[in-house]
Amino acid sequence: MGLGSAERASTNRSASPRLLTGHSSDNHIVQFYDREDFLASVVSDFLGAGLGAGEPAIVIATEPHREAFMKALRERGFDVPLAQQRGQLVLLDARATLSTFMVDGMPDWERYQRVIGSALEKLASAGREDRIRAYGEMVDLLWQDGNDKGALALEECWNRLAARYSFSLLCAYQMAQFGTEADSHGFAAVCATHTHVLPAESYDPAEGEAERMREIARLQQRAQALEAEVARRRAAEQELREALQTREDFVAIAGHELRTPLTPLSINIEAIGRFAESSAPSELRDRVISYAERSQRHVKRLSGLVTDLLDVSRIAAGRFTLEKSEVAYVEIVREVAQRHQAQAERAGCELVLSTPVVLNGNCDRLRLEQVLTNLLENAIKYGAKKPVRVTLETEGESVRITVKDDGIGIPPEHVDRIFDRFERAVSSKNYGGLGLGLFITRTIVEALGGSVTADSAPGQGAKFTVTLPR
Ligand code: ADP
Repeated sequence: MGLGSAERASTNRSASPRLLTGHSSDNHIVQFYDREDFLASVVSDFLGAGLGAGEPAIVIATEPHREAFMKALRERGFDVPLAQQRGQLVLLDARATLSTFMVDGMPDWERYQRVIGSALEKLASAGREDRIRAYGEMVDLLWQDGNDKGALALEECWNRLAARYSFSLLCAYQMAQFGTEADSHGFAAVCATHTHVLPAESYDPAEGEAERMREIARLQQRAQALEAEVARRRAAEQELREALQTREDFVAIAGHELRTPLTPLSINIEAIGRFAESSAPSELRDRVISYAERSQRHVKRLSGLVTDLLDVSRIAAGRFTLEKSEVAYVEIVREVAQRHQAQAERAGCELVLSTPVVLNGNCDRLRLEQVLTNLLENAIKYGAKKPVRVTLETEGESVRITVKDDGIGIPPEHVDRIFDRFERAVSSKNYGGLGLGLFITRTIVEALGGSVTADSAPGQGAKFTVTLPR
């Protein structure tokens, strides 16, 4: 009434090293793996060798793994239910078991030894032999959770328990978890807590000595080449970072330098206009006034572009700040619209406002004006001489502002991109601009705790919706 043709089956079909199928205890082995079917075959070799020899075994694994291991054991002729019935094979869920002894992300030694220790004691009394086989992947789960410290502490708990009970422990870790150079340290730490380390299946331990040497040399060459590649990329990354920094510095300096002459330029143009206005009526007087007005508009546009450049460099340097206070939304929307009245008329767009009588809240007034200005100027610029509608309303606890035009619209593949830095969906031959307005708009709106979306189709106009917490 054995458990089946177990021992014969396991020794005949096993490709695992002797370490796993042999009968020495007090081993703490770690097996790395890439593929699930490889893990199932290794674990069933390990368990099968023990069960066949009457050794008790405990498996602490996830449900899919428990099922895969038991299926592999059954295929090797083991009577799994019988072994469980006899108490020779105990299956525990890894996540549930963890929850019985983990406290604040770390294993609690007292709880751990109560749970695992008593399971081992029970097992020892069920087996023919005093050697127990344990397979566990609680550490792997902790590692997957990003709790490296907890995983290593749990490995140490197993090592401490080995002083009290005689068992051979097999742990398994997915190799993919150690996929970057930064994982080398953690990988070495995991290896250090085990008495034996078994490589993943990409290395075949069944090969002879000559092949093994060849394989080691190949791996050494690969490691060296990869290390050199990592160093080369790191240097390239550093160069790129420096180039980016140079660009950010340049934009900041250029912005300040460009802005400096703009203020006196604007004052002088204003003075010329006023001077002309106070002089006697003449053709020359009217011409000077008209040129001064036009020049002032260009100065305003230039100063808007410089402000955008400076804002972008502030955002990039993380120096973008808000100043919130009690604001009257209706007033702000009306004022910004008023400021753009002349520009809209020149572009042939009618401005249509829809606002409640009063709507107050907490916001950064200047930044909100900037958002409205950006959206309104775009609607006028891309609005194809059609009406532009600005709507202000409340929606639950939020304030919603929409700026809608019936202009050229935006192709669907560009709708998300236009909120990024320097991104444009029009040719610069037809429409001037730096592609910064919507990037700044989104940054401001998100800093205010809100969101901005665009809804558009080519030739169908565009609707930009800003939602802000009140
Ligand atoms: P700019 O207008 O300076 O190019 P923005 O960041 O304000 O920069 O806008 C980015 C791009 O989004 C524009 O180049 C344009 O392609 C598109 N866009 C923005 N607003 C509208 C609009 N109302 N209608 C059509 N396209 C728009």
